[in-house]
Amino acid sequence: MILTNSQYDAIMRTYEQKQLHNHKELEKRYTNAYEKLPALKELHEAISSLSVGQARKLLEGDETALAELKVQIKDLSEEANALLIAGGFPEDYLEPHYDCADCKDTGYIANEKCHCFQKFIIDMLYEQSNLKHLLQKENFDTFSFSYYSPNYIDPETGHSSLATIRDAYEESRKFVDTFGKEFYNLFFYGDPGVGKTFLSNCIAKELIDRSNSVIYLSSFQLFDTLAKGRFDKDEQAAKINKHLLNCDLLIIDDLGTELVNSLTVSQLFLCLNERLLNRKSTIISTNLSLDALVDIYSERIFSRITSNYTMLKITGDDIRIKKKLMNMEEM
Ligand SMILES: [Zn+2]
Repeated sequence: MILTNSQYDAIMRTYEQKQLHNHKELEKRYTNAYEKLPALKELHEAISSLSVGQARKLLEGDETALAELKVQIKDLSEEANALLIAGGFPEDYLEPHYDCADCKDTGYIANEKCHCFQKFIIDMLYEQSNLKHLLQKENFDTFSFSYYSPNYIDPETGHSSLATIRDAYEESRKFVDTFGKEFYNLFFYGDPGVGKTFLSNCIAKELIDRSNSVIYLSSFQLFDTLAKGRFDKDEQAAKINKHLLNCDLLIIDDLGTELVNSLTVSQLFLCLNERLLNRKSTIISTNLSLDALVDIYSERIFSRITSNYTMLKITGDDIRIKKKLMNMEEM
């Protein structure tokens, strides 16, 4: 992932702050418990002096004394736990609590970055791409059906604009609700400006809020990155490429706006195929018709898409125009 040194340092500082905060909280809980249960403090002190003795016996190699001490420590610990629970405290009251139990707020599990670290990186990517700001405006809470007419009928399918967006909305909700449990992919197509990108953004926000890694790229950006990262020529791009294959959700917006050649076509196929094999979901949106897609990307890619994606056609008047008109009326 693309992280500058200062970004990396900023993340590590956050972990240090978490550790410090949780350590202080633990100290507070100890103080609280000792105030209410003075006998608990005595037990803990007894245990710690026995532990010191245990270390000494270990050095001396006195096996018998060591075994006796172990039993004593175990008995006292059980007594202390019973006292804590009898005093009305939860069993884990004096255990350290972590924001992320998996890495104990260190950011790493063994030498691998923890999922919470990955989440930090994604947040940073969003900061950089300004999508975070966009997602404040475009999410399920701000979604409106009022832009869609029940009278605008798609001549091809006979469905109204309102009916197509209801379907797409329901599928998007289902996609979010079953994400991680069921594997599927969405393909939004239809007229420009009818809310395909808006729906993708709704999904992106919901999933990011649930700690999933989401990468959002316009088709143009996607192919640019794929090309730069090829053969690991550009190290940063190569890292992003790896993440494109592994992130929880990849959103490819405006497919068909990139410069298409045989190389980009095969790269798209590899990327989509790899994600299918990894069972990582992808959302694609395009203004192109299905016929136009077959012409551009070949039958092979296209059938790979149609057989693995839920195809959702959205039709209607250009919403961006409608929104503008409504805004003008308000003025
Ligand atoms: Zn973690």
